[in-house]
Amino acid sequence: MSSVMKVVLPDNAELELPEGASGLDAARAIGPKLAEQAVLVEVDGKPRDLRLPLANGERVRFLTTRDSSDPAALYVLRHSSAHLLAEAVRRLYPGVKIAIGPPIENGFYYDFDFPEPISESDLERIEEEVRREIAEGREWSREEIARDDAVKRFEAEDEPYKVELVDTAEGDISLYTQGDFTDLCRGLHLQNARPIKAFKLTGLAGAYWRGDERNRQLTRIYGTAFYSQADLDAYLERLEQARARDHRRLGVQLDLFHLDEISPGSPFWHPKGAVIWNELEAMRRRENAARGYSEVRTPLIFDKALWERSGHWEKFRENMFLIPEDDHIFAIKPMNCPGHMMLFAQQLRSYRELPLRYAEAAPLHRNERAGTLHGLTRVRIVTQDDAHIFCTREQIEDEIFGCLDYAKFVYDLFGLESSFELSTRPENRLGADEEWDFTEAALQAALERRGLEFSVNEGDGAFYGPKIDLHMRDSLGRAWQMGTVQLDALTPARIGCSYVGADNAEHVPYVIHRALMGSFERFIGILTEHYAGAFPFWIAPVQIRVLPVGESHRDAAHELAAGLAPYRVEVDASDDTVGKRIRNAEVEKIPFVLVYGDKESEDALAIREHGGLKDTLSLQEFRAKLATLVPWQAGAEPSLTS
Ligand SMILES: [Zn+2]
Ligand SMILES: [Zn+2]
Repeated sequence: MSSVMKVVLPDNAELELPEGASGLDAARAIGPKLAEQAVLVEVDGKPRDLRLPLANGERVRFLTTRDSSDPAALYVLRHSSAHLLAEAVRRLYPGVKIAIGPPIENGFYYDFDFPEPISESDLERIEEEVRREIAEGREWSREEIARDDAVKRFEAEDEPYKVELVDTAEGDISLYTQGDFTDLCRGLHLQNARPIKAFKLTGLAGAYWRGDERNRQLTRIYGTAFYSQADLDAYLERLEQARARDHRRLGVQLDLFHLDEISPGSPFWHPKGAVIWNELEAMRRRENAARGYSEVRTPLIFDKALWERSGHWEKFRENMFLIPEDDHIFAIKPMNCPGHMMLFAQQLRSYRELPLRYAEAAPLHRNERAGTLHGLTRVRIVTQDDAHIFCTREQIEDEIFGCLDYAKFVYDLFGLESSFELSTRPENRLGADEEWDFTEAALQAALERRGLEFSVNEGDGAFYGPKIDLHMRDSLGRAWQMGTVQLDALTPARIGCSYVGADNAEHVPYVIHRALMGSFERFIGILTEHYAGAFPFWIAPVQIRVLPVGESHRDAAHELAAGLAPYRVEVDASDDTVGKRIRNAEVEKIPFVLVYGDKESEDALAIREHGGLKDTLSLQEFRAKLATLVPWQAGAEPSLTS
């Protein structure tokens, strides 16, 4: 008689099974319905393929086709869909080589090396072939195989990428087969293709083999799959909304910026984009002044000796642009910190000067790999709204409080829902535990005093101090990591910063690194998507457009525009009909349009807001209304809460 084992079900009941029973065996023991609908088994919280054995004492939970929005269940469905895609492509394109095809957030992809390039128009044909496979029915089987046998098998199939994957794979080699297609794969997979109720290919892109641009460029086919057609429809709807808001698309449509291969990841800002930039910059300067910061300007390039001292040479060199000169190497700064610390260290300071807050929004350069660049949100030029606060130990809490208060002000200004995350001491760290107890407590106290809810990210602080990461959610509910407030007890000593304390002894100040918007580039990209290009009045590139109805109204229209100074006003006196000109202004998302004809005068202006709201106001009333839309004119003092 073979021995038995027990596994624990979610309701704590024990299920007795023969030794070596698989997840699927367990599901069958519970009931045929569960066995039919199961897509994976979670063992002690981790997903496991249904075909793999369970062990005595393991806690199991089955996910089924009804867990249609569970990420793990979707992952399995999409991984299986990727295999169907590879099978279809191999059948349709003889000579194609297959590389890898993992599930990703919202879908999956598969990388192929096609003998002839394919285009978007091929996707439909491939999609049909996959649907045919699903209709025909596919079952997945799993086998483990010796490494040498796997190499021989893929060599015989002339699949060099798979051979390379076997060569570099760790652990056991497993294969999954459906129909006449076998793939090297760790799993996990569905039992069969029946749960795939909706399948769609979503796009094509180039991708280097193993993400390395020195390798061959492959063709990546993206797709997604769901447990129901309704889920796919809802997803496509969300995708369409996001596409309509894509800042790269709106950037062109609204004439804000463009990118050019001549300088990858470095936007050209058009006049309208520069208006937005300058309004944010004016806000930054105004708030900095109100909150006791000093603007400084420090060099853009430094001898590598400074980067060695700051530690960047060791940790960050790969991302720095270097300029060799005679027997020296200079580097374009990727961060402002060392420059600010040199400025501080230029003389011996007194405790009476502290806290000292240096702010600078210099362009920083980081050599991000070309393949990772993305519009304004992943760039090589990073203009941070940066500052470094030099303070004593006793001042840490107040200074962190000030940074958080400032951050909240900025996010609230744009209606961005903010959240805060405190990262504490990591495994590898510098300094005694008592020091960490003190600094972590100071950051936490500041968060609590400002009334901010926060989560704790244990062990995720930098090795030289704890930090607070600032996140926000845009109007589509997407989360973005923005700024950071970071305490540093190490770098100031490396650069030689010190001050004389009240005790007449020399001390090293603490430094708080902080950026709130993050960078101008990224922030403008996010704002563009957040507002879908309909920027709030105070940063809108064109704030008001006046449309004279006929030729005879042109002078009056220009006079009205002049009377609306200092707002950014344009007159559209083109020959288009009034209706066409109103529509143009809508497309350009201009906050206010004034149609000026026989019936209009300074006492009665016909006003149309973006979005369709109409009103008649006198010039004076209109100006009063506009004043309320500019935060500083409306008398909104900087939001200092202490
Ligand atoms: Zn796979
Ligand atoms: Zn810094």
